[in-house]
Amino acid sequence: MHDAVVVGGGPAGTITAGLLAKDHDVLVIEEHASSGLPMQCAGLVTQDVAGMCGVGLDILNRISGADVIFPSGGKFEVRAKGIKALLIDRTDLDRKLAEKAADKGAEIRYGVKYSGCSISEDGVSLSTDRGELRSKLIIGADGHSSKVAMSLGNNLPKEYIYGIEADAKHRSEHDDVMTLRIGSEFAPGFFSWEIPFGDMVRIGLCISAGNRSTPSEYLGKLLKASGIERENVVSKYSGKIPIGGRPKSYGNRTLLIGDAAGQVKPISGGGLYSICKAAPILDRTVREALRENRVNSKHLSEYEKGWKKEIGREFSRGYKIRKLFTNLSDKDLDKIFGIIDRDDMRSILDNIDLDNPSGVSKLMLRNPQVGMRFLPIILRAMI
Ligand SMILES: Cc1cc2nc3c(=O)[nH]c(=O)nc-3n(C[C@H](O)[C@H](O)[C@H](O)COP(=O)(O)OP(=O)(O)OC[C@H]3O[C@@H](n4cnc5c(N)ncnc54)[C@H](O)[C@@H]3O)c2cc1C
Repeated sequence: MHDAVVVGGGPAGTITAGLLAKDHDVLVIEEHASSGLPMQCAGLVTQDVAGMCGVGLDILNRISGADVIFPSGGKFEVRAKGIKALLIDRTDLDRKLAEKAADKGAEIRYGVKYSGCSISEDGVSLSTDRGELRSKLIIGADGHSSKVAMSLGNNLPKEYIYGIEADAKHRSEHDDVMTLRIGSEFAPGFFSWEIPFGDMVRIGLCISAGNRSTPSEYLGKLLKASGIERENVVSKYSGKIPIGGRPKSYGNRTLLIGDAAGQVKPISGGGLYSICKAAPILDRTVREALRENRVNSKHLSEYEKGWKKEIGREFSRGYKIRKLFTNLSDKDLDKIFGIIDRDDMRSILDNIDLDNPSGVSKLMLRNPQVGMRFLPIILRAMI
């Protein structure tokens, strides 16, 4: 019997397995033939996340600013003093994390698809298309549509957003500045991005559920607006992101991490930061649970308490801001541009912490001239 079977060989699964494998018998099962494909990520991370991943990254570009385009075309320029984010090769990252987990002693079996489990007093029986597996614990790291998460009952995330992106041949105006667009024309309910890397650009968007047009149709419009010919698109990816968290990230002999746990930042849709923060807490909980042979839901709840203490505040504050944002019309967004298009606001945003972006709203609203003008827009969005 394994100590833990981790379902999913993405970053959540392999980072977790790498930590646990130091002292435990850990098996990772991944349905695809390797980690990292299909890629479902823009590959934008902060330097902190890059450090926490603990592997050498293939860095495609270093980003130090953003042009935020509002619906009527107003451009808000954010420029940091140093590097604000790295554009990385995400497939390369996933592969390196899998190699690192294997080096630490985790066994990774590719081409094994998990279909369900039954949990008893003696352990977990996992059903896969390659037969049954036995383990003391099951760790769901099986991404946005996690089957392990759903084995805990009604455990859907608050919402999904739907993303699409393309890498295209295109020389951007600035080498280290990305462009973000907000508003209903290109990315209703979220935002679009254009991130330069050399003679290429990674261009994409997410939309919330319930839009009449598909993400692909919005991408077509975005390519056109950015002057990118369809023939210059060299690759395309799509995926969905769970937003707002899932009701539970633990159960009897069960823990969830990453997208499977809904651990995604609601404002940016980024998931790598949360994984890096949650994995050591999961490792600690599992160590104690196995040592004391207390693998029930009550004991494993320590994990949820731990990760919520670490990153839960950003999640709940970020989700409130997201709810307000999704209720704003294009007109409201343009009014906001009129309010914040000032040097003092720009300097607040120049210093934004991309791993904890919600803190910026507090700083902005603290300015009386800005706060008072925001109030009617916020109140309307709340009703
Ligand atoms: C368009 C888009 C852009 C994004 N951009 C960024 C970004 O710039 N920065 C950032 O930090 N985050 C970004 N994200 C989010 C980020 O990609 C995810 O949060 C991250 O991949 C979550 O990692 P994970 O290991 O939890 O899940 P995944 O990376 O989805 O890995 C889950 C793994 O489980 C496997 N699996 C699933 N079901 C089974 C099964 N039944 N049996 C066996 N294996 C299974 C899958 O094949 C997969 O390999 C983006 C997401 C999207 C969709």
